[in-house]
Amino acid sequence: MGSIFDDALRRLDVAAEHADIDAEALERLRHPKAMLQVSIPVRMDDGSLQVFEGYRVRHDDTRGPAKGGIRYHPNVDLDEIKALAFWMTCKCAVVGIPFGGAKGGVVVDPKKMSRLELERLSRGFIQAIADFIGPDTDIPAPDVYTNARIMGWMMEEYSKITRRHTPAVITGKPIPLGGSLGRDTATGRGAYHCVQELEKRRGWKPTNMRVAVQGFGNGGQVVAQHLHAAGYKVVAVSDSKGGIYKAEGFDIPSLIHVKNETRNLEAVYCDGSLCEAVKADQLTNEELLELDVDILIPAALENQITAENAKRVRASVIIEVANGPTTSEAEPILEEHGSLVVPDILANAGGVTVSYFEWVQNRQGLYWTLEEVQQRLKEVMQREFNAVYNLMEEKQIGMRSAAYVHALNRIGAALEARGTQRYFQDNT
Ligand code: GLU
Repeated sequence: MGSIFDDALRRLDVAAEHADIDAEALERLRHPKAMLQVSIPVRMDDGSLQVFEGYRVRHDDTRGPAKGGIRYHPNVDLDEIKALAFWMTCKCAVVGIPFGGAKGGVVVDPKKMSRLELERLSRGFIQAIADFIGPDTDIPAPDVYTNARIMGWMMEEYSKITRRHTPAVITGKPIPLGGSLGRDTATGRGAYHCVQELEKRRGWKPTNMRVAVQGFGNGGQVVAQHLHAAGYKVVAVSDSKGGIYKAEGFDIPSLIHVKNETRNLEAVYCDGSLCEAVKADQLTNEELLELDVDILIPAALENQITAENAKRVRASVIIEVANGPTTSEAEPILEEHGSLVVPDILANAGGVTVSYFEWVQNRQGLYWTLEEVQQRLKEVMQREFNAVYNLMEEKQIGMRSAAYVHALNRIGAALEARGTQRYFQDNT
């Protein structure tokens, strides 16, 4: 596999032909604004010292402070974080929130650490990047294998360093530490709103639709839960260890209960707190992608649908809850057999949208009700989904390209307002 960042930039070239954006603005987007690499020494429980590598990339802040999560994963590298930061720039522009894009990551397997080690690592990372982030410059949030508790430690560490209580420096915090109601479920809920809009446009019946979800973390669980509640048949789910399949569909609340209690994904049925194992077929993550389903939801990591397996993907609708699950080479293959891809920068934008609401609430010092958060999220997702869908139809391009065109138009307008070459030349 080549560079993920280079692959991500290929999407710009395709969309740029249809967008209202100056060539020099596009050139800027090819180069992250600033990148920081740090090492984080952590005292382990056995007394030894271990040093971890960490990154924070600020891709662009044309439309506002840079925004994006922090991931803990053994495969994190600078190239991946650059791609993820680039996607954040585009994502914030797609949903029209006043942020640019950033991302951070630490090369670590958090499952192998104790809670105290994890806390020391999280505080250590903030000590290392404290000068680089801030509520008006660059605002982190959770991502793969990070959560509200970690955000709370990070916020507290930053506040200690700056000697100011600064909840707006990070989003996705626990509610008692200034988090927003509804942030924890926002990514999955946003993706579900996309499915609902498609349902209206395509007129399908939820009970006739079979769904497979790859990845059973925050995004995957919540979207599966909403779909299940609406009558969709979720026939397959997986986590990093593998997947399960059941033709009649799973009882998703039971799966979530057991997964979160035991950290294992097993086919179960629960009545209250009593859960029993039920029969289901085992399958691999690769097999899940190729199932005969109507809706496929990649909700794990990048590069899952590639030039190699795209021709075997049978779903007619793909909702990208993960960031970057489809490579640029796989895209035309999916389009050729008529699959509609609701791209990551739209489908998973619910998370950062409610992060924005959290930041607004922190700065106002006034907190919203869950209903208010959810209503505003719904409005954003419905409005932007339909704007992208209409662009797709109007310009006869793929939905991903349409989302990029929509984003580039907004970024282009912000750059244009400052004056580009076109503007200054006219005055000579
Ligand atoms: N990590 C999430 C994403 O990729 C959320 C980012 C945020 O809330 O800032 O969109």
